[in-house]
Amino acid sequence: MTRTYLIKPVLDHKYSFITHGEGIYLYDEQGKQYIDGSSGAVTASIGHGVQEITDAMKEQSEKVSFVYRSQFSTEVAEQLAKKISQISPGDLNWSFFVNSGSEATEMAMKIAIQYWQEKGMNTKNKIISRWMSYHGMTMGALSMSGHIQRRERFELMLENYPSVSAPYYYRDVNYRTIEECDDYYAQELEKEILRVGKDHIAAFIAEPMVGAAGGALTPSNGYFQKIKSVCDEYNILFIADEVMTGLGRTGKMFGMEHFDVTPDIMAIGKGMSAGYTPMAATVVSEKVMEPIRSGSKVVMGGHTFSANPQSAATSLAVLNYIEKHHLVENSARQGAYLKEKINELAEESEIIGDVRGKGLFVGVEFVEDKLTKKSFESRLNVANKIVEANFEQGLLVYPANAGADGLTGDAVILSPPLTITMEEVDELVKRFGVALEKIEQELLGTLSKN
Ligand code: PMP
Repeated sequence: MTRTYLIKPVLDHKYSFITHGEGIYLYDEQGKQYIDGSSGAVTASIGHGVQEITDAMKEQSEKVSFVYRSQFSTEVAEQLAKKISQISPGDLNWSFFVNSGSEATEMAMKIAIQYWQEKGMNTKNKIISRWMSYHGMTMGALSMSGHIQRRERFELMLENYPSVSAPYYYRDVNYRTIEECDDYYAQELEKEILRVGKDHIAAFIAEPMVGAAGGALTPSNGYFQKIKSVCDEYNILFIADEVMTGLGRTGKMFGMEHFDVTPDIMAIGKGMSAGYTPMAATVVSEKVMEPIRSGSKVVMGGHTFSANPQSAATSLAVLNYIEKHHLVENSARQGAYLKEKINELAEESEIIGDVRGKGLFVGVEFVEDKLTKKSFESRLNVANKIVEANFEQGLLVYPANAGADGLTGDAVILSPPLTITMEEVDELVKRFGVALEKIEQELLGTLSKN
C-alpha cells in the first residue's frame, strides 16, 4: 500500500494488519498469531469469531437493522433493556442505549443533572470524580476524567471536575493502614463537597476498579461503602462507570458487586457487545427515573443510533452467551489462576512492584526499585516497552498509566477474553514471562549505565 487515508492513533507507526480472529487469538496478514491478552482494550469479552453471535447478527439484519427511535421501538431493544434490568443489581431497571462508553458516562452525568432539575434543584449541576480515572473522550466525559495526557490539549474547554484521590494502597499503605486510607479518602470527598457546596453537586462518579488511568487499582471491601455513605449524607447521586469492569470482567457480573454498593446510575459499554458492534448503555435506577417519569417525561439525548435493532440483537446474543457459558464464573476462576501465576513471576522479577485486580482484570505495575517503589522515569516509556516486547512474543496487553500525577508510573492490564481456558492462561503467562525477562535485562542494563 503506498499511502494511507486512515487517521490511526500514531500517524507514523507501522501497524500490522489483522485479517481474522478466533477465540482468544488474532492473526495478522503475515500469519502471526497473537493472544488477545487485553481483549482489545478490555472489550472482546467472549472472544473473536463466535458463530452464535454472527448468526444472531445476520438474522437481525435480514429483519431490520435500523428504525428511527423517535417514532418506533423494537422488540429486540425492549428485550435487551429487560435483560440488563434482570442482571443488574438493585432496581437499576431502565436503560438508555448509546454507542460508546464515553456517551454512556456523559449520559449518566446528564441524567444526574436532570434528576435534580426535575426536583427543582437547578444548582446541582457539577460532578465530583477522581484524578486517577478515565471516563471517556467526549467533553463531558473528559471533564470528569483525570487522564492528564488526554485532557491536555482541551484543558481550557473542560470543566475542572476531578478532585479527589482514588484508592491506591500500593503507594499509600507505607504510611497508613488500609482502613485509615479509606477514612482519608472518604474525608477528602466530604471536604470537597463542603468546599464546592452540596447544593452544587449532582453526582460522584467512579470506576469500581480504575482501568486506563491506574492499571486495575482495586479498592478494599470497605472503601465504596464509606464513599457511598458520604454521598448519601450530602444528597449526591452515585454513578458507577462499569464500562471496563462490567459484564463479568472482574469475576462478578458488575464490579460494584464486590463492594456491596448499588449505584444510582451505571454506565456500561465495551463487553456489552464484546466488540461485535458498537453498543453501550446508561442504566438508571427507579429512584432516579421517578421524578423524570412524573415530571418532564423526556430524557434529553438524541443519538441517532441509540437502541438500533442491529446492535441490540448483537448485545442480547452476547449477554445470553455470557450466561449460557458461565463466563462470569470462568472469569473468577481463570482470573484467580492468572493472578497467582503473575504473582509467581513477580516474586522473581526485579521490576514488578505490584500485582492487583479481580477476575480477568489483572494489573501489573512496574517500578525501578521494588523496595522504595520508585517509578521509572517517564522518558523511558516503560509501559510501552512492555507492550512492545509482549507484542513481539505474540501477546497483546493494555498499557495503563499508574502515576498519581498522571505522568509517571507504568502499568499494564491483562484482561483476556472471559472464555480463556487454563491451558491458554499458561500459554499467556509463558509469553508474558519471556517478554518480561527481555525487558528487565534491557532496562536494568540501561539503568546501570546511567
Ligand atoms: N469509561 C471507562 C472506564 C473506560 O475504560 C473507557 C474506555 N477505555 C470509557 C469510559 C470510554 O469508552 P469508549 O472508548 O467506548 O468511548
